[in-house]
Amino acid sequence: MQAHGEVKALSQRVRRVVAPNPGPMTGPGTNSYIIGESDLVVVDPGPAIPAHIDAILGCVGDRLRYIACTHTHPDHSPAASLLAEATGATLVGRTTADDRHQDLSFQPASQIEDDECVTGEDWTLRAIHTPGHVDNHVCYLLDEEGVVFAGDHIMNGSTVVIVPPGGNMAHYISSLRRLLDYDVKIVAPGHGELIPDCRGEVEKLVRHRLLREAKVFGALTEAAQSLDDLVAIVYDDVDPMMHEWAKLSLLAHLIKLEDERRTFKSLEAGIERWQVAA
Ligand SMILES: [Zn+2]
Repeated sequence: MQAHGEVKALSQRVRRVVAPNPGPMTGPGTNSYIIGESDLVVVDPGPAIPAHIDAILGCVGDRLRYIACTHTHPDHSPAASLLAEATGATLVGRTTADDRHQDLSFQPASQIEDDECVTGEDWTLRAIHTPGHVDNHVCYLLDEEGVVFAGDHIMNGSTVVIVPPGGNMAHYISSLRRLLDYDVKIVAPGHGELIPDCRGEVEKLVRHRLLREAKVFGALTEAAQSLDDLVAIVYDDVDPMMHEWAKLSLLAHLIKLEDERRTFKSLEAGIERWQVAA
């Protein structure tokens, strides 16, 4: 495992520093990627932990031109504004509505659009808008190497949590498939090691979500059930310690099924309940 603060070269143009914020949702910590040789961009500078910011600054010297964020969750973007202040680099990414899970300090001058590129002397970083985990999520494809910096769209070692309303399961599944429109070879996730087979990984993840959806649908009955009832059935293969998180993705599945009119929701004594649509 890569030590926190250590700079690891992954290819000719790509280096990685892992932030010291390991945990059940962040794996070994957030991956910050530094791309380029003469002028540089950092993708996901991570949390505002001084030792991590110093590690990035030590690596980039005075060559940092851009700071790109995949999204604005607190483990991905809070170091951005501090790094921008220290280096004069330009912020790149998108913002979203405040749902109390967003880093509001990240304020790029404009919202990067799908397929828009940021370039340096020997690199092109192409934005792929991938709503799903959260609606302002962007992946960045390094055209020259076929490496996609995937943030929390694809993780290695843990499952991406979809938190409604900013997160949306139908969007997530179609955003996974969108990566297949590009010549992507390697996934560089926001957490965990490189994933060498992008197509295989996307197909596996889509299959996993659709199987889970089938399990959610299979658990619905004509009697209305709450999230607490359903999580125990649908996530019986997941550590009960993780059920509070699983409930968020469960809700995202239920919203997708509601939108498809396969379930409907009622409110009983202040508790939302779902049952199979007639
Ligand atoms: Zn996230």
